[in-house]
Amino acid sequence: MIIATKKETFRILKENNLIAKKGYGQNFLINYDTIKKITSGLNIKGETLVIEIGPGLGALTQELLNISNKVIAIEIDKNMVEVLKQNLDMNKLEIINEDFLKVDLNKLIDDNKEYREVIIVSNLPYYITSDILEKIISTGNEKITKIVAMMQKEVGKKFIKKEDKIESFLKVLIDNYCDAKVITHVSKNDFEPRPNVDSIVLEFNLVKDLYNLDMSYFDILKDCLKNRRKSIINTLPYDKEYVLEKFVKMDVKPTVRIEELTILEFKNILEELSK
Ligand code: SAM
Repeated sequence: MIIATKKETFRILKENNLIAKKGYGQNFLINYDTIKKITSGLNIKGETLVIEIGPGLGALTQELLNISNKVIAIEIDKNMVEVLKQNLDMNKLEIINEDFLKVDLNKLIDDNKEYREVIIVSNLPYYITSDILEKIISTGNEKITKIVAMMQKEVGKKFIKKEDKIESFLKVLIDNYCDAKVITHVSKNDFEPRPNVDSIVLEFNLVKDLYNLDMSYFDILKDCLKNRRKSIINTLPYDKEYVLEKFVKMDVKPTVRIEELTILEFKNILEELSK
C-alpha cells in the first residue's frame, strides 16, 4: 500500500493514536507524484548508500527502499520509528532514533564502508533546514555526492541565487562548493497537515574540490560571521598591529565589515595574513 496518500496517512495516524507534531516540523507528504519527482533523478546505483533525514511515516522512505540496496533513516521522534517498523520492509532499512544534528555522520558512513557513494535525501524539518545543510556540506566527507532536499520555497530560492557578498556561512558553502538546481515545486496541498507556504525541492551536487581545501579557512570564516556586523579588524584572529600593517599594503579599510566583502576578497585577505 502506498503511504503517500491522504487516506493512508490518516489511517496510520489514527491507528497509532498520533497527531503531527508541529515542534518537529511534521508535515507528511500525501502526493505520490511528488515522491516520484524527488526520487526519479537520484541515479542510485548498487554501491549507493541512501541516508534519509526525518522519514516520518515513511512516505518517501518507501520509494527509496524500492530503488536502493540500503537506506539509513534518521528520525528524532520515537513514535515515528514504531510506525516505520510496522509499515516498511526492514531488510534494507536501518532506522536511527536520534536528532540528525547530533549524529556523527563521518562515523556512520565509515561503518558502512562497503558503499562507495552516499546520497542524502530529505523532506526537511523546516525549522532546522540551514543547520542540516550546513552540517552535511561542512562534514567534508567525499563519499557524499548529492543532497536532494525539500524546503520552504522562499528559503530554497535564496540558495539557488548566486551571491557575490558574504551573506552566511551556509550560503558561501553552497555558492562555492555545490552545484544547486531546482528539481520541482511542491504545493502546500501536497502535505498533511497543510503548511502555510509552498515548497521547493533542490538538488545539490557536491563539488569534489571542497575536500581538498584547507578547512581552517572555513573555521575562521565561520567565526568571523558570528560577528558579521563588526569591522574586520575586530573579528580576525590575528594581532591587530600586524593586520593593520598588512591592510595598508593591501589597501583594505580596517573598518570594512565581513558582510561587505566578497568571498574572494575575504580569501585574499586570509591568504595574505598567513604569509
Ligand atoms: N519524510 C516524511 C514525509 O515526507 O512525509 C516526513 C517529513 S516531515 C517534513 C520532517 C520529519 O523530520 C518528521 O518526521 C520529524 O519528526 C523529523 N525530524 C524533525 N527534526 C528532526 C531532527 N532533528 N532529526 C531527525 N529527524 C527530525
